[in-house]
Amino acid sequence: MDLDTDVPHSARVYDYLLGGKDNFAADRAAAEEVVKIAPYMRTSTRANRDFMVRTARYLAAERGVRQFLDIGTGLPTSPNLHEAVQDVDPACRVVYVDNDPIVLTHARALLTSTPEGRSRYVHADLSEPETILASAELRETLDLERPVALCLIAVLHFISDVDVARSIVRRLMEPLAPGSFLAVSTITSDSAPKQVAAAVSEYNSRGINSKARPKSEVVSFFDGFELVEPGVVPVHHWRPDDKARSIDDSQVSMYGGVARKK
Ligand code: SAH
Repeated sequence: MDLDTDVPHSARVYDYLLGGKDNFAADRAAAEEVVKIAPYMRTSTRANRDFMVRTARYLAAERGVRQFLDIGTGLPTSPNLHEAVQDVDPACRVVYVDNDPIVLTHARALLTSTPEGRSRYVHADLSEPETILASAELRETLDLERPVALCLIAVLHFISDVDVARSIVRRLMEPLAPGSFLAVSTITSDSAPKQVAAAVSEYNSRGINSKARPKSEVVSFFDGFELVEPGVVPVHHWRPDDKARSIDDSQVSMYGGVARKK
């Protein structure tokens, strides 16, 4: 498989911003350039990862969800989603999906499920929801008659056309049972428009197509579903713990939200 280490990949740039080691010179150069433009990018990335963990734990602990479909998983970083939710109930089942070959090569670290639960990995593209939904790994792991939490954390900004992104969300949620949930986070330029626009164009110039969205577009991903309090907010404002509460608003350029399918 071609790992293409000469061009930056979003999974590895993200890994570097989190302080990880699974990245190459091209990824570090892209990340450093983005940090030069928007110095808070590391804090924002960490705040997003923490949002992922809080939402997953919330859905398992407070809403009783036991099945998770996490698309745009990223490189393994502790805790991974299955670790966060199996901490609540070891029987939780998780299907991970990513389209990056390097995530595939590290997938073993995502497959460390408890014996009571299960975690599986699917190498597939978010832009092909039907392929993901039809995959044997998903069908063998998730019971679509029961609620599933679809997690699209820091991945929808790689689908630049908002109508296409909305259609993907709709097609993924459509076969899920009532009582399922949708968790989303995505980059916004509402907080620091010039810096974020410059950071996004830096990514785009290096081949990572991405799009920062205004709040109204992020809210539109949840159309037809019941938003859970506090709605769509900067990720560190979503049911914050002490760590999230300590983050300054100027340091975060991601919106997040969670909603329930009736
Ligand atoms: N969800 C994780 C990682 C986010 S990094 C977190 O929030 O901590 C974004 C991930 O999305 C990367 O691993 C990248 O490879 C993946 N990705 C980007 N575009 C994708 C697509 N079209 N289909 C599937 N995965 C994609």
